[in-house]
Amino acid sequence: MTAGKKAAVIRGDGIGPEVVDSMLRVLKACNSQIEIVMCEGGSEQWERNGRRDASFIPDATMKALEECDACFKGPTTTITDPKAPRSVAVTLRQKFNLYTNVRPIRTYRRITPDKNLDFVCLREATEGLYAGIEMQITDDVAIAIRKITRQGSRRFANATMKWAKDHGLKKVVAITKRNILKTTDGLFLDEFLQAGKAAGIEIEEIYIDNMMQQLVVRPEQFNGTALASTNLFMDIVSELAAGVTGSVGLMYSSNMGDNYAMFEAAHGSAPTIKGQNKANPTATVLAGAWMAGYLGERHIQDAIFSATEQVIEDGRVVTFDIGGSASTAQMTDAIIEQAKAKLRK
Ligand code: NAD
Repeated sequence: MTAGKKAAVIRGDGIGPEVVDSMLRVLKACNSQIEIVMCEGGSEQWERNGRRDASFIPDATMKALEECDACFKGPTTTITDPKAPRSVAVTLRQKFNLYTNVRPIRTYRRITPDKNLDFVCLREATEGLYAGIEMQITDDVAIAIRKITRQGSRRFANATMKWAKDHGLKKVVAITKRNILKTTDGLFLDEFLQAGKAAGIEIEEIYIDNMMQQLVVRPEQFNGTALASTNLFMDIVSELAAGVTGSVGLMYSSNMGDNYAMFEAAHGSAPTIKGQNKANPTATVLAGAWMAGYLGERHIQDAIFSATEQVIEDGRVVTFDIGGSASTAQMTDAIIEQAKAKLRK
């Protein structure tokens, strides 16, 4: 089934090359048959090329991405100067209509023995405050537009219900700030209520401010549910959730459209630990495993997930952020060893 499947891979910036190489090593060791097409992308290559391009994604990379069945994006640095190009992730989500960002949240007993979490964060990934509409009105006033459309909310609400049904979830928690953003979040919630009714799934609305404290105080209440929200709110909610699991280095992610998907770690390029061989490879390795499953290699996905869990729970060969002293490469080797053993069985 995987024969002939191609995935474009951008190694990215900061710790990107280290963790993406880990992911590629794991896939190779598991005998993945996916053809990997390596591509340039990100701000480091943009700087190297003289800061000339209008995008962090060179034209040749965009062409390669279009010709592949899926892509993998290592973490990339976004330069904050308004004249610099837009974020790679945001550009790709909009270009390929990858409107559902998925970030599964789960805990590991060894890291957080007092917590047992298992839920998913779903984020509308093409609109909201990431629409990229910002204006300087006067020297002293600047505005950003939070774009919410019915069509965008509807397709995301339907994708959320499909995820909930496929995973046996009974409830979707829609996160809004409808008491203040009455029109935009009113429209968003309306689509969720309709999609929930059609799918037979309960919709509970929670305001974003309350949500943040609930996630800190009693996150277990969300087990078995899908949390869903607009672009910026869910970026923040999911990162808080990752913090509750112990490290953002654990949170893997996909960006799903109707015919294409991009896989990535949820964390950024972590520039302060770049090149030190100490970043946690888990998020990138699991995102890569998910991509393998998406492209037809479900047995490889399962083996890597199970192997990674075993390495993390064992705790002897893990990186600093989850209580160990192993290097990125050592933790990767440990995952490879376990995954190969599982595939041999
Ligand atoms: P970050 O996720 O890069 O780092 C936040 C903290 O988590 C830092 O302390 C970092 O050292 C740590 N961390 C991150 N990944 C880790 C890993 N695998 N192992 C161990 N520790 C890890 O967030 P930031 O510092 O806000 O952003 C840095 C850059 O990354 C920015 O330019 C930002 O725009 C970009 N970014 C990109 C993405 C993406 O590519 N999807 C996502 C978030 C941030």
